[in-house]
Amino acid sequence: MELNCEGCAGCCLDWRPLGGVHASDASVNSGDSSPVVPDHERRGRYRALDATYNLVPLTRDEVRAFLDSGYGDVLVPRLFESFADDPGRAVTVDGHEVAAMGERPLFLVGLRKHPKPVAPFGHDPVWLDACAFLDPETLQCRVHGDDLYPETCGTYPGRNLDLDRETECERVEAAHGDPGERLQDRSVPEDLPPPAFGPQALGSTVFAYPEPDDLRGVVARLEAGESTREDRALFVGAAAGSAPGMAEVNEDRAEEARELARDADSWVGRAASEWAAAAESAGGPGASAEDAPDPYRVEEDRGAPPTPGWDALYGDGS
Ligand code: SF4
Ligand code: SF4
Repeated sequence: MELNCEGCAGCCLDWRPLGGVHASDASVNSGDSSPVVPDHERRGRYRALDATYNLVPLTRDEVRAFLDSGYGDVLVPRLFESFADDPGRAVTVDGHEVAAMGERPLFLVGLRKHPKPVAPFGHDPVWLDACAFLDPETLQCRVHGDDLYPETCGTYPGRNLDLDRETECERVEAAHGDPGERLQDRSVPEDLPPPAFGPQALGSTVFAYPEPDDLRGVVARLEAGESTREDRALFVGAAAGSAPGMAEVNEDRAEEARELARDADSWVGRAASEWAAAAESAGGPGASAEDAPDPYRVEEDRGAPPTPGWDALYGDGS
């Protein structure tokens, strides 16, 4: 597997508002582009209930590590709407058939995305939803290589290649590049972690929420993109209190984790509020971000780890 990630970040942001329109097309920033990117997370028997694109599933240990590092405000849950004709694998909450194990709704925990001014694939700067840890200037990951770097990100798109599934790199190539420009070698890495989905993932990356009655109103807010900090903390607690191979949740650990999630006040949360306000006044996802606030001031002045830039990794050719 060999990748060319410079100027891409396709797997770290929601580039669907750019559709297949190329940089030379002036309509990109006028809102006229027609999204043509297939929504791979919302087809089949189990479909993501929320609208986030390319959620990074975290392991239970990664959830705990983010909490312990003060990043409880970065974690978001994902439930799945069930379209499987099997009532034993779903529970009805807020009018949604939520995928479940018995009565326990199944969920993942991933990293929050919010609007940032970015310029992927050679485009002019636009507002797009991006991972909390994406440096909008360099399009590099602020936790790359450190203890918090998610295993899913570090091995992407190895699992897709292993399963012979389309990769985000190829979706980007199809819409904004040339074949082989991003995914330059398709060999499957030998050290892939266990799959994030399937029965073996229970308690490790797929969690079971113990009390569906707690989720009345919560599921509707998640679906509408209006979840509260308290809503998210419920799931973060249940994930942190889980154990591999088991549906049961340790309530002491869950309560401790809920508190950390409720109290978190990282640079991510504070920067997100400023980004959201600026994006809204600019016109939302896909709108021009030429007049966006300075990313250094919004993120690094609040404590975001810097990224090295691509020249530092590969040299500037001079
Ligand atoms: S953690 Fe880093 S690599 Fe993973 S999605 Fe976020 S910015 Fe991208
Ligand atoms: S989509 Fe592929 S090429 Fe682009 S940043 Fe992600 S891994 Fe790299």
